[in-house]
This record gives sequence, structure tokens and C-alpha cells, in this order.
Amino acid sequence: MNRINAPRGTRDIVYPEISHWQMLEARIREFYSRFLYREIRTPMFERSELFQRGIGDTTEVVQKEMYTFQDKAGRSLTLRPENTASVVRAAIENNLFDALFPLRFFYIGPMFRYDKPQKGRYRQFHQFGIEVFREESAELDAEVVYAAYAFLEELGLREISLEINSVGCDECRPAYLRVLQQAAQARRDELCADCRRKVDSNPLRIFDCKQPGCRSAAATLPTIAAHLCPGCAGHFVGLQAGLDTYSVPYKVNERMVRGLDYYTRTAFEITSDRLGAQNAILGGGRYNRLIRDLGGPDIPGVGFAAGMERLLLHLEISPENEPSLCFLACQSAEFRPQVMKLARVLWQAGYHAYVDYSNANLKKQFRRSDRMAANFTLVLGEEEAAEGKVTVKDMTRQEQVRIPQQELLKWMNQRK
Ligand SMILES: [Zn+2]
Ligand SMILES: [Zn+2]
Repeated sequence: MNRINAPRGTRDIVYPEISHWQMLEARIREFYSRFLYREIRTPMFERSELFQRGIGDTTEVVQKEMYTFQDKAGRSLTLRPENTASVVRAAIENNLFDALFPLRFFYIGPMFRYDKPQKGRYRQFHQFGIEVFREESAELDAEVVYAAYAFLEELGLREISLEINSVGCDECRPAYLRVLQQAAQARRDELCADCRRKVDSNPLRIFDCKQPGCRSAAATLPTIAAHLCPGCAGHFVGLQAGLDTYSVPYKVNERMVRGLDYYTRTAFEITSDRLGAQNAILGGGRYNRLIRDLGGPDIPGVGFAAGMERLLLHLEISPENEPSLCFLACQSAEFRPQVMKLARVLWQAGYHAYVDYSNANLKKQFRRSDRMAANFTLVLGEEEAAEGKVTVKDMTRQEQVRIPQQELLKWMNQRK
């Protein structure tokens, strides 16, 4: 029969790698609860309109990367390419704006983008992120950035750098976009076909393009810095002061605009320099229109998302301390009930125990115990069975004792 493989751009996560994921997830839950973020789980697919309206019709994500399909009733649905729009939708739909205070969420889960698979980049990939609704202060933005940066630091990530920028607001961006459009128009010949279309539809997105020609053109295009309205300029100054207070090092990059349309004012990105250039592992910003644009109240939001695959690539993870493993070997099947009773005692006390049901000879069972790196090998042979005893080999200390079966737990507990 033909083998059926996983779809391109997806992968299976199995032991021992899965323990890295579980560790990372546990660290996320613990860390973000310090700031009063509560977990939210939203559906993996939504109505396509949510992302078209939320992320922006002319973004790369919406135009090229979404997994959109029709269900049997003809509805257009999309596997979520990111989670902010979904969290906003959930808050509106469940009236959380009235019910909860503070409105702080974190999420962990798979996202889907039809992207070119490469090292650390998949079509089903995983993100964690946080969102704060209703709070407007620039100092809060600094706290959100701190909560991103400090977490990576606590994980032991080295050589990370933070870039920040302001992308303006509805008040100041339109005038800037006209200036940008004119300047981009003059450089049109240097741009790729996509970016030539963006000149008319959404010139800010030219800064997202990775084509060398577009990058060098973008390097000379005017930035929004000189066009920020007093409100945005003040907010940006406040963000930097807040970052100084929280001791977060940063660089201002006026050309970093993030690939999503919903950002207003604060935008930020954390990259790792460790695996070469272009390693954004976390990005976010403020989105003051998104909640209103999706039919909610006119209140602001701010947050970030981080790619977990890339994060794990950058982490050096030492194995967790697991509880002792007991391997239960048995000379003959007739003694197995005694072995099973001992295993039950161990499981109930929280030990990891493995019963070998194979009826293989003891030598083979001992080899298996070695392969599993068991801490203790318990043996029940003829003599032990007759005396109601069990032989315990402490594999780390290279010791061996024969003890009454009912004393096993006491003996194990003393060895902890
Ligand atoms: Zn503004
Ligand atoms: Zn381009």
C-alpha cells in the first residue's frame, strides 16, 4: 500500500521533543499569569471576513497565505492565520468588555499560513501571544514589550534585540501615506510587481517586502517619524521612557512597520541574531481601531505574538527532572500477578513504573531496562516469589537488595 504522509509544511511532534513544547507552554502560563493574563482558546477556523476586515485586504497574509475554504453549506471559512482578530471577536461576542477586568488574555495554539516551508517555518505553526484591551497608556505598551522581552530573557535566549517604531494613527497616517505614495511612485521601476500594486493600494506594505530591489528602494523612502501627530509623537516618547524605566534595551527602526494593517502607534519586533539575519521571533503593537472595526466598542488594544517553532530552535533545553523510573522484570509469567500488584503500589504513589509483559528471558528484559534508562530494576524470580520478596537493583548506585514486597514503597521513599 502507498504510504500517506503528513501534508507539506506540517509535522508531528513526538517524544522527546514534545517535552520541550510542554516545558515552554508551562513557562508561558506561569510567566504571563504574573501580569494577570488569563488563557483564552478560540476556534481554529473563523469566518473569512474576520481576517479580511481585521488584518486588511491588501496584506500579504490575506492575499496569499490564508487557508480559505467553503464548508458544505457554502460558507467561506478560514483557518486562523493569527489570533488577535479571533480574540477580539471572542471578546465582542461574549460581552467580555463588561464582564472582565482587567481584559488581559494569553493564548497558545496552532496557526495556519500557506507559506513556503523552510527551517523553522511551517504551514501549521504555533504561536503564543498576549492581548490587552481597553487600556491606552504608553506605559502599558512598555509593560507589554517588557513582558515579551523579559520572558525571552528568562528562557535563556541570548543575543536578542528589540526594535520599536510608531506607525501613527488615523489622524496622521493619511497625510504621510500620500507623501510615501508619491515617493514610491518615483521609484516604481525598482519595485517588484507586488509592490508596484501596493504603491496605489497600500504603500506602507512596501516596507514588508523582502525582495532586494524593494528593500533598497524602501531604505530611501520617507518614514512616518516626521509626520506623527502630537498625540502619536507623545505616545512614542512615553513608550521609550517606559522601556527605560523597565530597563529594556531597544533601537528605534523607522522602517519596521509589521505586516498587518491593524497597528496604530506602537509597533515592535524582537529578533535573534543567533541563527543569522532575519530571525524575527516575536512581534506586536497597538491596535486602536481593530475592536471598533470588528463591530465592538471604540476601545484600544495592544499585544504581541511569538512563533514557538523558531523560539524552540533558539533555546538550549536541558532535560527536565523526571520522577524515578522503575522497570519491573519477571522471570516467569506465573509470578506476573505479584509484579502487577507491585506496579500498582508504585503508580499510586506517583512513581513511573513499566511492567514488562513480554515473557522474554531476564537478560533481554534487563537490556530493555537499560535502554529505557530505568533508575530501578525490580526482579521477581522463583525465590522472590516463594518468599514474598522482590529484588531491587538501584541502577545509579549499582546496588542490589532483596526486600519483602510490602516494604517496597518504604524502601523507595527512603531513596528519593
Ligand atoms: Zn497620530
Ligand atoms: Zn516588493
